[in-house]
Amino acid sequence: MRLRSIYKRLLAFHGPQGWWPIVNPRTLVSEYFVNAPRDGHDFFEIAAGAILTQNVSWSNAEKAIAALKKNKLLDPVSIRKISTGRLAGMIRPAGYYNQKAGKIKHFTAWYRRYDFRYDELLGRGTSELRAELLSLNGVGPETADSILLYGLNRKVFVIDAYTRRIFTRLGIFAGNEKYHEMQDIFHANFKGTLQEYNEYHALIVAHGKDYCKKKAKCAVCYLSGRCDKKI
Ligand code: SF4
Repeated sequence: MRLRSIYKRLLAFHGPQGWWPIVNPRTLVSEYFVNAPRDGHDFFEIAAGAILTQNVSWSNAEKAIAALKKNKLLDPVSIRKISTGRLAGMIRPAGYYNQKAGKIKHFTAWYRRYDFRYDELLGRGTSELRAELLSLNGVGPETADSILLYGLNRKVFVIDAYTRRIFTRLGIFAGNEKYHEMQDIFHANFKGTLQEYNEYHALIVAHGKDYCKKKAKCAVCYLSGRCDKKI
């Protein structure tokens, strides 16, 4: 299995990505650094961001987060108080805003079961938290695993459309695997640290955006020598 050597190449080429981005409250622009989440505020922002970026680019989600932050609403107490309609209006730049407002409300109601205490969540088991997140309306495996990995420091590999496309082309996936089957391949064969799991997914997204696009740029791709190019 070539997962480690691919990771090394991705990292050497793109460098550390510093996920998950946190929006600076003064500039309202995402900042990338390696020690998020620093606290419960970061956790809630990461979870909201994981929902807001569903089916849209990060730049759209970032605008919605910035709007919430600018209006001092990006915290679970405020989100719980405001109406779903007002929340939807605030997050309009993220698209699917009515649905996403409902999803953020559902997530917030779940978090309230823990009295909005981040330390309570940190004390819970990964399987338990994952099952609870997956039971929420609008939280699928990719969103749940993003919250677990980036918001709660759990070593779970996040699979997305870029992962399926790239690792199928590389010859590691057959291409018809289910989410959990692709995740199992990474869990069984990439014995990385938590930080490496964090970095690997971010690097996959960078590679998928810059090189292994729908129309792949194989001629200039630094993974070309390791790739089956199953396009
Ligand atoms: S060589 Fe082409 S198909 Fe393979 S990873 Fe690079 S861009 Fe994707």
